[in-house]
Amino acid sequence: MTAPDVDVAIIGAGAAGLAAATVLRAAGREVVVLEAEARAGGSACTERRDGYLIERGANTFRLGPGALAFLRGAGLESRVLAASPASRERFLLRGGRLVPVPMGPLELVRTPLLSARGKFRLLAEPFVRRGNPSGESVAEFAARRLGSEAVPALIGPFLTGVYAGDETRLGAEAVFPSLVAAERRGGSIVRGLLAPAFERGRPRGRAGSWSTADGLLGLIDAMASALGPRLQLQHRASGIRFEEGSYHIEIEGKSSLRARGLVVALPAPTTAGLLAGLEPEAGRELATIEYAPVASVSVGVDPGAVREPIRGFGFLVPCGEGEALLGGLFLSALFPGRAPAGRELVTMLAGGMRRPDVLAEPDDRLSAMLLRDLDVALGLRGDPEPLGIARWPRAVPQPGRHHVSLVASVRTRLARFPRLALAGAAYDGVAFGDALASGAAAGQRLSSEES
Ligand SMILES: Cc1cc2nc3c(=O)[nH]c(=O)nc-3n(C[C@H](O)[C@H](O)[C@H](O)COP(=O)(O)OP(=O)(O)OC[C@H]3O[C@@H](n4cnc5c(N)ncnc54)[C@H](O)[C@@H]3O)c2cc1C
Repeated sequence: MTAPDVDVAIIGAGAAGLAAATVLRAAGREVVVLEAEARAGGSACTERRDGYLIERGANTFRLGPGALAFLRGAGLESRVLAASPASRERFLLRGGRLVPVPMGPLELVRTPLLSARGKFRLLAEPFVRRGNPSGESVAEFAARRLGSEAVPALIGPFLTGVYAGDETRLGAEAVFPSLVAAERRGGSIVRGLLAPAFERGRPRGRAGSWSTADGLLGLIDAMASALGPRLQLQHRASGIRFEEGSYHIEIEGKSSLRARGLVVALPAPTTAGLLAGLEPEAGRELATIEYAPVASVSVGVDPGAVREPIRGFGFLVPCGEGEALLGGLFLSALFPGRAPAGRELVTMLAGGMRRPDVLAEPDDRLSAMLLRDLDVALGLRGDPEPLGIARWPRAVPQPGRHHVSLVASVRTRLARFPRLALAGAAYDGVAFGDALASGAAAGQRLSSEES
């Protein structure tokens, strides 16, 4: 039996892989992180250009209990920066105007986004009889609890913002786990959510949207640089075998690596391919997880040359309102130092499950389409400054109706392999903070398993 080269190998240096490595190192484990690309971060990709700090992938993150506990434990909490309180203001494009999204009961009563009947129906949620959310789509769950008007008016645009997804295909149990649990517990979302909110000792996150002074790269760099030579860039894993108590990882064009433990922190389709040599049925299940493609197109705008003020978090474009734009984010209004003096940074997101075809458009046509939509939303007087386009063919996983049971089944199938964990946005939440929490949980699990 040959000795392994390292305690734990981690494949993928996105948020999840780096968080797993950070936790394992803190527990005294020797790790190697294999990353296919020439940079760490995966879908978190910050760039400085012409005085702008531009996010090409993820823009801000939420600090749920898992992400917060990880950052605290890793000594990284002091790096995070809250978005300005103005970020609470969000808009929807409706009939060519930006309409504020209601963020509280009073705003809900006043909003033009719902009819009087739609508002009554929504406010009647606590009195709607308990149903069975198992296997329901988000659209079905939301229509049953909140009324059918709320789905296109509020829920659909919200899902566009987070998932670039389709509410009729996303699964309620995966997308709104706390709301589904609240209904199961209290019979109503509102009643079910109120009860645990007052529980003492319940782990809590921090409200709002977050980044660092250097964008998401601030966290990625902190985790990556602490790894030093343990982070091996341009090392693409191409196969995994389990032999004689250790994992043999094939690396494209390089010699293979043997490790006693393994964290696979990759997008689901890539993990599916790698699992073919280990547990093919788990691989086949993972291969069914769809991804929404997204293009992120940034421009610099003169705030004096737009009809609408650039304020708040940004705006979302409901289905049927625009040609290709899903939404626009005003990052320079949220964090200092994101744009040169006298300019604002606007990042437009396009594609998603609604218009996956737009990713195939050449740069000039894609920009022209998006600027037409941006003009409708903001009223452009003059040409914005082009700041680049990033295309993400697999941007955001789309947890379907049976996602929770699919993930449970994959985990059960893999349970016979010792010291093996999957981590990343494909499993228990698609956002950057979820990926950090998922990586940290994988790291903790392997740290506590016998080495
Ligand atoms: C355009 C866009 C906007 C987004 N906006 C937000 C947002 O505003 N807020 C938010 O919370 N989330 C957002 N997200 C989602 C967020 O970025 C992801 O949830 C998170 O970054 C995923 O991290 P991960 O570690 O799971 O995966 P990834 O970031 O995909 O990391 C996987 C890593 O594995 C590497 N890899 C792939 N194959 C191999 C291989 N064979 N061998 C070795 N390495 C390999 C990849 O190069 C990559 O570095 C956005 C995503 C995109 C694309």
